[in-house]
Amino acid sequence: MDPRLADDLHSLPDVLDAAGKFAGAALAGLDGRAAAVPPGAVVPAPLPDGGVGARGALDEFSRRWESGFAASAGPRYLGFVTGGATPASLAGDWLTAAYDQNPASGMDSSAQDLERETVGWLAELFGLGPEFSGAFVTGATMSTVTGLAIAREWVGEQAGVTVSADGAAALGPVTVLSGSPHSSILKALSFLGMGRSSLRKVPVLPGREAVDVAKLAEALEALDGPAIVVANAGTVNTVDFDDLRAIAALKERHEFWLHVDAAFGGFAALAPEHAALAAGLELADSVVVDLHKWLNVPYDSAVQFTRRRDLQLRVFSNNAAYLGEIGETPDFLHLTPENSRRLRALPAWFSLVAYGRAGHREIVERCVALARDLGARIDGSARWQLLAPVRLNVVCFTPAGDVTQDRIDALVRAIAEDGTTFLTPTVYDGRPALRAAFSNWRTTTADVDRIFAVLERLAAG
Ligand SMILES: *Cc1c(COP(=O)(O)O)cnc(C)c1O
Repeated sequence: MDPRLADDLHSLPDVLDAAGKFAGAALAGLDGRAAAVPPGAVVPAPLPDGGVGARGALDEFSRRWESGFAASAGPRYLGFVTGGATPASLAGDWLTAAYDQNPASGMDSSAQDLERETVGWLAELFGLGPEFSGAFVTGATMSTVTGLAIAREWVGEQAGVTVSADGAAALGPVTVLSGSPHSSILKALSFLGMGRSSLRKVPVLPGREAVDVAKLAEALEALDGPAIVVANAGTVNTVDFDDLRAIAALKERHEFWLHVDAAFGGFAALAPEHAALAAGLELADSVVVDLHKWLNVPYDSAVQFTRRRDLQLRVFSNNAAYLGEIGETPDFLHLTPENSRRLRALPAWFSLVAYGRAGHREIVERCVALARDLGARIDGSARWQLLAPVRLNVVCFTPAGDVTQDRIDALVRAIAEDGTTFLTPTVYDGRPALRAAFSNWRTTTADVDRIFAVLERLAAG
């Protein structure tokens, strides 16, 4: 054994203790760390030949990289839709690495059953019944890839073609309809060989990002064969929701697979006041939920739910003599794009056990209340204008008056350089804008005070 490796083995508790202390200090200093660190030029170091051991690596990381890491786990990082990591989920994540289970198969460990238990709890949380099965994937994008792959298998089934056996070409073009699809839908369509041009945008309701269901019905009517409808439960700009029940009702007259992107909007289901937004989620054929956003578990974590596990199995089964028979309860390696994978369920399991339904509901409710608070302050300021009502946890706004893209880009840079908060740009309804997304468990009203003060100062020029 390499002497440094042997040394680390003998002092493993000290190594972990040092990393734990280091992490603890970093998290204790989160409030003082900049929400965004504008990247500096980093000169890549040569590949180490003889190593420096784990504690040496920790020193090296501290010296060369740590100061460039942003407080994206902190309370004022409002860019994209970014969750933090609850204390319990962080502990669960560490143990995921410590036990290093591979829950691809159930031949040697109960880790798969922990994943099944967690998926079951999550289904319950989102109001999905026992007809749904689920599996952990890395993020909403892979959840969509998985869901749309199953959808395509279903379209094949309607046409008497087995896509998983004969390939996408045997099926020919598939039509995908959506009102305000997330960019990851196009990426998934490209990746799956259906092509980005298979997506047809359906008009949205006036002043909204939600699809016009009557227009969707017309688009379905005009098609010859079955289609895939991608509905949105929470758009990134204004957190608008398609009317899932009305869309599902169109199945009485039209044949389509209903894929719902509920990456973060699905969390509306946790709070009685907001649950109506996501009503009808249980009518979907496949559902995307991200956990590294609003569940506040570390990256990378999302779930894909479907009611057609049989088709999922056709797409993803990975038969080999050494893996045994696929039984009544298929191993996860037959259900997801990966074969070997980490026990991604463990951080979520920890957080659900630690804080329960009530604890996670409180995070959702608080984030919505804080978004509304910032929205009201923006609305009351002469320097800003709100571009859409705050429906859930995102505030979409822009400076008062005519605003150019350059102005927004300059503001985004100025906000990042200030470091109190971090916001990402967007274009909403043709207007360059900013968005502030609340999804971190740590955020409080005091943070909104600081964020709004910075916005006012920077808008004043
Ligand atoms: C974030 C997001 C995605 C993509 O999620 P990743 O976790 O980055 O793969 C897809 N859809 C919606 C609505 C999102 O908010």
